[in-house]
Amino acid sequence: MLQVKDTFFTYNNTFTLQGISFNVKAGEHLSIIGESGSGKSTLLKLLYGEFDLNHGEIYWKGAQVLGPKFNLIVGYEFMKYVSQEFDLEPFISVAENIGNFLSNMYPDKKQLRINELLEVVELTDFSKIKVQYLSGGQKQRVALARAIAKQPEVLLLDEPFSNIDNFKKQSLRRNLFKYLKAQHISCIVATHDKNDVLPYADKMIVLHKGKMIAKNSPQQLYKQPEKALIASFFEEFNVFKLSEISHLKPNTSEIIIYANEVRITKKSVLIAKVFKSHFMGDCYLIEATFKGRSIFINHPNAIIESQDVFFSISDELIQFRTL
Ligand code: ADP
Ligand code: MG
Repeated sequence: MLQVKDTFFTYNNTFTLQGISFNVKAGEHLSIIGESGSGKSTLLKLLYGEFDLNHGEIYWKGAQVLGPKFNLIVGYEFMKYVSQEFDLEPFISVAENIGNFLSNMYPDKKQLRINELLEVVELTDFSKIKVQYLSGGQKQRVALARAIAKQPEVLLLDEPFSNIDNFKKQSLRRNLFKYLKAQHISCIVATHDKNDVLPYADKMIVLHKGKMIAKNSPQQLYKQPEKALIASFFEEFNVFKLSEISHLKPNTSEIIIYANEVRITKKSVLIAKVFKSHFMGDCYLIEATFKGRSIFINHPNAIIESQDVFFSISDELIQFRTL
C-alpha cells in the first residue's frame, strides 16, 4: 500500500501543498483532479521522490519514499512516472525506445514483450518508425509503453492522454487501464478529463489551491457533490436555493442540481425563459433565464429562443442531495 501522510511542500515560499493524506492499495486506481495550478503535477513529483517534503511522510509497502536529500538518484525501480514532458530518444525507432527499457538476456522473450506493449498502446504499425517523426500523441503512447515495460508496482501518470486525439483516446485508455488492473499495478493519474475517472478510478481526490477538498469514490462525489467545484468537474450544473425549488424544504441553503437532472414538463410552478439551445450530440443543453440568472437543462430537442418553459426537479433527488 502507498501511504501519504499529512504532507506539506513549498516551492520557494510561493505555492504550497498542504496536509495531503491518502492511501492507495496494490492494484488500485486513484485519480487526482483539480484546476490547472492546483498542484496535481507537484503531488505526483513528491510521490516519485523528486523533491524533499517540508512535513509528512510517504511510504510504499512500509518503506519510506525519500527525496533527493536522502537519495543520490531520484526515483525507484518499483515506481514509474510519465511526466507531461516525456523524454524519449528521437533518433531510434519506437520498438528500440521501448526495448531499451528491457533486459537483453533473452532476445525472443524481449521481442514478444515489445510486441505486447506495442499492442497495449496501439503502436504496432509504428514499431519501426523513428520517434522524431511521431506526433505528440504517438510520443505520449511510447512514453506509456516504456513506463509499463518492466512491470512497475506503481505507475504515476500526469495527464496521460492530453496529447492523444479523441479517435484513439477511448480505446487507448480502456486498453491501458484494463492492462494495469489485470497486472495488479497501482496507478495514480492526474487528469482534468472526467472520462479518465468515472469508468475506471476506484477513488479520486480533488485538489484546490494545494489543499485536498474531497476524497471519495467517483460515484459518491458525482452523486453528492459537496461543492460547486466538484460538480463542475463532471457536468454542467445549477445552484438553486432550496426555497426556490421546493416547498418541502423552504430554506435558503443551496443545492447543486446537474443540467441532466432538470426536466422540462407540461406544467410546474417553476418557469424559465429559453435563451439558447446548444447541440451536445446526445441532447440539447438549454440555457434559460430563471429569477434573473442563467440555468441549464438537458433536453432531447432544441427549443426556440424566448419561449417560456416549465421545469421540475424530483422531490426524491432533492431529499437525497440534502441528506
Ligand atoms: P497542476 O499540475 O495542477 O497544473 P502544478 O503542480 O504544476 O499544478 O503547479 C502548482 C503550482 O506550483 C502552480 O502555481 C505553479 O506555478 C507552481 N510551480 C510548479 N512548479 C514550480 C517550480 N518548479 N517552482 C516554483 N513554482 C512552481
Ligand atoms: Mg500539471
